[in-house]
Amino acid sequence: MKGFLKLGKVAGIRLEVHWTFALLLIWAGFIEFRNSGNLERVAVNQGFILVLMACVVLHELGHALTARKFGIKTQRIILLPIGGVATLEKMPEKPGQELLVALAGPAVNVVIAIVLALIIPVKSYFNFDNILVEEMLYAPNLQNFLFYLFIANVMLVVFNLIPAFPMDGGRVLRALLAFRLSRVEATNIAASIGQALAVVFFILGFFVNPFLILIAFFIFFGARGENQMVKQNSLLQGHLVKEATLTNITVLRPDNNVQEVIDILLASTEKDFVVAQDKDILGIITQKDIIKNAKTPSILVRDIMDKTFTAVDESTEILKVLELVGKEKKSFFPVTRNSKLIGAIDMVNIGEFILFKSVSWNKIDNS
Ligand SMILES: [Zn+2]
Repeated sequence: MKGFLKLGKVAGIRLEVHWTFALLLIWAGFIEFRNSGNLERVAVNQGFILVLMACVVLHELGHALTARKFGIKTQRIILLPIGGVATLEKMPEKPGQELLVALAGPAVNVVIAIVLALIIPVKSYFNFDNILVEEMLYAPNLQNFLFYLFIANVMLVVFNLIPAFPMDGGRVLRALLAFRLSRVEATNIAASIGQALAVVFFILGFFVNPFLILIAFFIFFGARGENQMVKQNSLLQGHLVKEATLTNITVLRPDNNVQEVIDILLASTEKDFVVAQDKDILGIITQKDIIKNAKTPSILVRDIMDKTFTAVDESTEILKVLELVGKEKKSFFPVTRNSKLIGAIDMVNIGEFILFKSVSWNKIDNS
């Protein structure tokens, strides 16, 4: 994805930060300097944000390493100004496992808060009267730094456990519902509650903290997207690639040139092509490849085709193809029977297949 800076790897998982995170640091530094005019305080403040982000990374690692226990890989952990995200390959479908993965993140912050509470006299901050505490907290010393970190971790736990799917609390809710209901129903309920809470966050954002507005968008569209995905996946369950294969496709020869392919592109609705010789697949060519090479119409298909294609057998489950789309960042796959080309499958056709399935399902529901 664009705009991310690679920081390195933790536990074998890529750690990346979005460039807007720098804006957060600059903004926080500016506010502190305007309020106190003290560079030392600005430095402490910036250090605090970085240490807090380290706590967020540990939180995401909590999710990622628990998911790893259930055989689910995490592609990367990304840091945004509004928090962290661990991009798990998928969420576990067993509610018990999802419950553990969702709880593992906040659990890390609970542990950090407990450790901090053991190091610093947290109680003393709540014993004095307000003015004294305010004076005490203003001093930029280590104890105050750790106290703020304690409060921040407690807030991370509380905030993340708000049942606003797809936030952690919402995932906990879905998992609990899924013990009783189907995954589709559980997701539908959790996503509706998540979207309602997103509206509340959005409104609160104008009065409390503008970051809530960003978070509201993240929740609203996240809930909608994941709800649709779960519905689609349940429609596709048990269906095979052969049911959604495009069999009426133009197969290119390796000695076709780009001009010939452009002519086919313009004369039909096909966008991506398989290159084959006697039903043996040699590569694929996408519309992007053609556009890139449109200036050299005489160049041959064999010189620009993508040889790192993945072919799928017609008896593969369509759901497996969707996993491939996520893993390989491709959306067009040649389809084979006994390793010989019989057609192709792409996201557009899978989308159409889902559409027809959902229409026929609704018919059954209404009758
Ligand atoms: Zn989390």
